[in-house]
This record gives sequence, structure tokens and C-alpha cells, in this order.
Amino acid sequence: MKYCPNCGEEIFENSRFCSRCGSDFQTATTHQPRSDDAPSAGFAVLGFFFPIVGLILYLVWQKDYPLKAKSCGKGALIGFITNIVLGICYGILMARMVLEHF
Ligand SMILES: [Zn+2]
Repeated sequence: MKYCPNCGEEIFENSRFCSRCGSDFQTATTHQPRSDDAPSAGFAVLGFFFPIVGLILYLVWQKDYPLKAKSCGKGALIGFITNIVLGICYGILMARMVLEHF
């Protein structure tokens, strides 16, 4: 016996659809990650320094290379957050310097 990944209902080994929620297992298996897909630290670093590139790669690879896409997405997200935090710190620093002159 297998279980439906969607609702947890028991399903027959050779059944294509879940009898409970109607989930299609045939399409689920065709979207399996490729064998050459793997998390990549290199692309995470790339995404960190170039969040826009990381975001684009994440969107492009989402379907075929979900693990690589995840690395890019994570790097891009951390890059974005770092940029925002640095931007805020820089803003506060500049505001302080300007205010000290008055
Ligand atoms: Zn189901």
C-alpha cells in the first residue's frame, strides 16, 4: 500500500488518481527533479552578490532543478536582506552625520 502525498489516503500501487482528493500521481512523477540536480553553494554565493541574477535563476530552474533553484533563491534572499540592513545602517549613519552639523 502507498499513501496519497496530498491527503494521506491509502491508494493502490498502480492507481493513477487518489480516490479521495483526485490528486494525479502521473503528473507528479513527471516533475521529478533531474539526476544532475543538487544544492550548489556556488550559485548561493552568486545569488548573494547578485540577488537579481539569483532570483532569475531561481524562477528559471524552479521546475527542472529545484535544488539548484533553492540554493540560488536562498542566496538571493540573504543578499536582499543584507542589502536592506546595510542600507538602513548607512541611512542612519548619514542621518546622524547630517544632524551633527546642525
Ligand atoms: Zn489524496
